[in-house]
Amino acid sequence: MRAAMFSKAGLAAFLLIAAAPATVAADANAIHRRIITLDSHMDTPMNFARPGWSMMDAHTVENDLSQIDYPRMMKGGLDGGFFAIYTAQGPRTPEGFAAARNAAIKRAIEIRDMVARNSDRFELAFTADDAARIAAKRKIIVYQSIENSYPLGKDLTLLKTFYDLGVRMVGPVHFTNNDLADSATDPKGPEWHGLSPLGKEFVAEANRLGMVLDSSHASDDVFDQMLELSTAPIILSHSGASAVFKHPRNIDDTRIMRLAAKGGIIQINSYPDYLKQIPEVPARDVELRALTQKYGPYRTLPAGGDKLKAYVAERHAIEAKYPSPRPTIDDVMAHLLHALKLVGSDHVGIGLDWDGGGGVKGLEDVADIPEISKRLLAAGYAETDLAKIWGGNVLRLLREAQGKAGKISNEPPRQP
Ligand SMILES: [Zn+2]
Repeated sequence: MRAAMFSKAGLAAFLLIAAAPATVAADANAIHRRIITLDSHMDTPMNFARPGWSMMDAHTVENDLSQIDYPRMMKGGLDGGFFAIYTAQGPRTPEGFAAARNAAIKRAIEIRDMVARNSDRFELAFTADDAARIAAKRKIIVYQSIENSYPLGKDLTLLKTFYDLGVRMVGPVHFTNNDLADSATDPKGPEWHGLSPLGKEFVAEANRLGMVLDSSHASDDVFDQMLELSTAPIILSHSGASAVFKHPRNIDDTRIMRLAAKGGIIQINSYPDYLKQIPEVPARDVELRALTQKYGPYRTLPAGGDKLKAYVAERHAIEAKYPSPRPTIDDVMAHLLHALKLVGSDHVGIGLDWDGGGGVKGLEDVADIPEISKRLLAAGYAETDLAKIWGGNVLRLLREAQGKAGKISNEPPRQP
C-alpha cells in the first residue's frame, strides 16, 4: 500500500534533503515512486484505435508523437489517472449528436478493450478506494472521464449510460459552445451566458450519479454557475492561472480562491498556448494544415509504417523551418507554484493534457514527470503535499462526489 507509507519516512526524507542537497534527486525519485501519482487529464485513448499501436510498446514523441505508453509510465512513475473520452465539437443536429454519441461510446469500449488486453498491467477504477487497491497490485489505475459532453446531445439519460461504462468525471464543453454550456474559447462569444437550462440539469444529474464536475474549457460564467449549483466540489482537470498568463483557458486568482473555499481543485496543464505568450507563425500553420491534408490525421497512419515515418519527418522539417520559442517546464512550474502559494496543497494538482496537446521543453512526455516532484521538493513542499498534489486531492473529490450521490434527488432526468 503505497498510500499509507508516507508519514514518517516522508518527513525523514524531507529532512535529509534539507540537510544534503546532493541527495535531492535520489530522494525525490524515491518519494515520487512511493506516492500514488495520478494525472487528471490524459487524451491517450485517442491512440488506442491507431492501427498497429499498442499501449505496451515503447514509443517516442520523436517517432510517433505519442506521450504515454506503459513503458514510459513505468519510467516516469505515473500510477494512472483519468483517461479522457474526448469528442471534438461538431454540428448540433440530431445526426451530429448521434455520430458523437456513437464515437464516444466506441471510445469508452476502446479504453475497456485496452485494459482487458493488458489486464495484468492495467485495471479499471470506479471508486476512490480503487486507486490504492490497484496500486498495491502494481497495476496502472484507469479512471475514465468525458471531455466535452456534446455526445449527450440533448439526452441527459446518456450520462447514466456513460456512468455505467465507468466514467467518473465529466466536463460539459470544449473549444466552442454547445447545448449545455458556453466555452471559454468560442470566437462567437457567449451563447447562454453560462450554463444553458439543460446544462443546469446536467450538473444536477452528474451530482446525482456521483460524477466529478469538470469546468476546464468552460467559460468563467459556467465556472461560477457550476460552483454555485454543484452539491459536490468541482475540478478544473487541466487549466492554468491567468495571473501567470492571461488566456481565456486560464482562471483568475479570485475564482481559484472561491474554488478552493468550496473544496475544489485546480490541476495544472502543460498545453503550450496556455502557459505563456508564443508568437504566432501563420506560414507554419498553413504548411502544417497542408501536411494533414496530404496524409490525413496522423493517428490514422499505421504505427511503424512508412507513411507515418514520412509524415513525422515532414512535420519536423516544417517545425525546423519556422523555429519558435517553446515554453519549458519552468512555465508549467510557474503556474503550479502560483496556484500552490495561493490556495495550498489541498487544492492543487496535475493534469498535463498528454496526447491532447500538452508537453513542453523538459516535459516532453510522461517519462519526464519525476522532474516535477523534484522541483516541488526543492520549492519546500513535503512528501505529504506531493501525495495530495499527485493524486490525493482528485481522489478526495471523487470520494466526496460519490458520498453525495443520490442524495440530491432520486428522480431520473427527463426524457429528451
Ligand atoms: Zn482539453
